[in-house]
Amino acid sequence: MLRSALLAASRSTRFRKTIEGARPLQPVIARFVAGVDTGDALQRTADLLAAELSVTLDYLGEETRDVAQVERTVAVYERLLAAFGDCGFGRLAEVSVKLSAVGQSLGVDGNKRALEAAHRICVAAQAAGTTVTLDMEDHTTTDATLEVLRALRVDFPWVGVALQAYLHRTEGDCRDLVGAGSRVRLCKGAYAEPASVAYRRKAEVDRSYIRCLRVLMAGNGYPMVATHDPRIVAVADVFGEEFARLPVDHEFQMLYGVRTREQQRIAERGNVMRVYVPFGDDWYGYFMRRLAERPANLLFFARALVKG
Ligand code: FAD
Repeated sequence: MLRSALLAASRSTRFRKTIEGARPLQPVIARFVAGVDTGDALQRTADLLAAELSVTLDYLGEETRDVAQVERTVAVYERLLAAFGDCGFGRLAEVSVKLSAVGQSLGVDGNKRALEAAHRICVAAQAAGTTVTLDMEDHTTTDATLEVLRALRVDFPWVGVALQAYLHRTEGDCRDLVGAGSRVRLCKGAYAEPASVAYRRKAEVDRSYIRCLRVLMAGNGYPMVATHDPRIVAVADVFGEEFARLPVDHEFQMLYGVRTREQQRIAERGNVMRVYVPFGDDWYGYFMRRLAERPANLLFFARALVKG
């Protein structure tokens, strides 16, 4: 119930205005969002790399319906990637892109525009010696996102994609993406989805995650295990042994500000631990999805409002 209410609020313009204007929330937001500009993002990246973690940077924004904003977003990614190249980060720092931030929501030729924009970002990533991963948004965009992925992989076979274990279709999508060179980030899924397309109960989502993970770990691609769930991390370790995967054959991923001690522990035992680092001022949708994932975050949020 609470999760659904928060996910509904993540799309409400009125609620958005109230939350964005609430100054006492700034410290709560800073827990999940690394800063507003590319300077903040680069500083946070350098800090995480110094702590032996890897990074995927996300310039916040989604469902953009303004062509000029799409152009600004692509330019931010190009600047960031040029800076990554100058710093020589290699694949330790890559970027994550939401197609709805780069044209997918612009109307009839949205997918074509998103493909063009993502292609430009991939050119910049290639020059910097790193990779791009496409985030996955709500289920109405899954086919289009996978289509863009297929088109990008013709020129950039290293482009990755997020798949969401809560969707009924995802085990099949995992089977389609287990070939050599394929990079799949498996997550549980963060949007409000109907029962016709998605598992709704946590136990069902977790079971689906494990089935999907088994397919990916048994395949020839590079699985990216994106979860904070300790039981799933343990299952990934078991599959790693079962399918004789070396630590360099797959990686773990967690969100900035979530289970940071566990991030460090996994990196210290010799696995790649990549932190998903969002930055930018369009943090509202991202932040509300983080609240929906964990009721305790809501308490943290409510306390800040009351104290402020
Ligand atoms: P859960 O069962 O939700 O959580 C397990 C435990 O982790 C919780 O008990 C809690 O201790 C901790 N935890 C989980 N979430 C939080 C939180 N927000 N704050 C504090 N503690 C928390 N979703 C998409 O739909 N599309 C994407 O492209 C996408 N990309 C992602 C990329 C990465 C690297 C990660 C880690 C997640 C991504 N997600 C994405 C979000 C994902 O789908 C889940 O909503 C989110 O990760 C919570 O699920 P969980 O696997 O951590 O398990």
